[in-house]
Amino acid sequence: MSEECTHDCSSCTANCSSRQQGIPKEQLNELSSVKRVIGVVSGKGGVGKSIVTSMLSVLMQRKGYKTAILDADITGPSIPRAFGLKDRALSNGQYLLPVTTKTGIDVMSVNLLLEDETRPVVWRGPVIAGTVKQFWTDVVWDEVDYMFVDMPPGTGDVPLTVFQSLPIDGIIIVTTPQDLVSMIVEKAAKMAQMMNVPVIGIVQNMSYVICPDCGKEMHIFGEGKISEVAKKYNYEILGELPIDAKLAKLCDKGIIELMENNYLDNASDAIEQRFPN
Ligand code: ADP
Repeated sequence: MSEECTHDCSSCTANCSSRQQGIPKEQLNELSSVKRVIGVVSGKGGVGKSIVTSMLSVLMQRKGYKTAILDADITGPSIPRAFGLKDRALSNGQYLLPVTTKTGIDVMSVNLLLEDETRPVVWRGPVIAGTVKQFWTDVVWDEVDYMFVDMPPGTGDVPLTVFQSLPIDGIIIVTTPQDLVSMIVEKAAKMAQMMNVPVIGIVQNMSYVICPDCGKEMHIFGEGKISEVAKKYNYEILGELPIDAKLAKLCDKGIIELMENNYLDNASDAIEQRFPN
């Protein structure tokens, strides 16, 4: 523990004895090592949490780090689709093996295990939370530098268990402008605070649209709300994404690894700086 320790782990990234107290975390198996775990959270579903998780993983992999995605959004898994993953995950007899994307990102998601990916997962909370824990303990995560966890949305039982059982180094909060108005994001922020998890920063998705005729940015949901929330909680704004038809198409076609935008460059730099590998 440093001499300046304020015992407020939510604003500090040091891995000291103060942070390590509390509920014991789940352990990785003997074939796995993961240096950094970054959670991507949102107050509710459909705000772009999975797209942001995918884009951040692509950027960190491009920087030369071995990157992985644990898709903990069990009832709304969209990571395999964004990467065009069709193969089922296999087992080595003892543990599950992740499916690897074209550029080398290791992925585990419930959709890689289901016979039919259109079948809904109709499971109760404890089963869902148990599955996420098993994705951490029973998958071979081979020498991963940065793992991104696409967290279950909201502030209910499942995200709570995931926060408590995985050793998350820091989180990125994804919001939309409407989300900010309804204060859903503040609930997610407060949950992170209660869990003593540092917030790396906030990403605003669907912030604006670019007029296809004149190129003007149109903030149809209003401007400035993100700055207010960022100021209130002392969060860094890591990026703002427009509603981008090209991006949606890359996701739908399963070729997110070909993205060329720079919307999240600051976010990936912030992760690298705050959590050096
Ligand atoms: P969540 O993980 O929060 O449920 P997703 O990342 O799956 O949300 O996004 C929901 C849908 O919206 C997806 O089809 C995705 O491709 C689309 N989408 C998300 N963000 C954008 C954006 N900035 N521009 C265009 N489409 C987007």
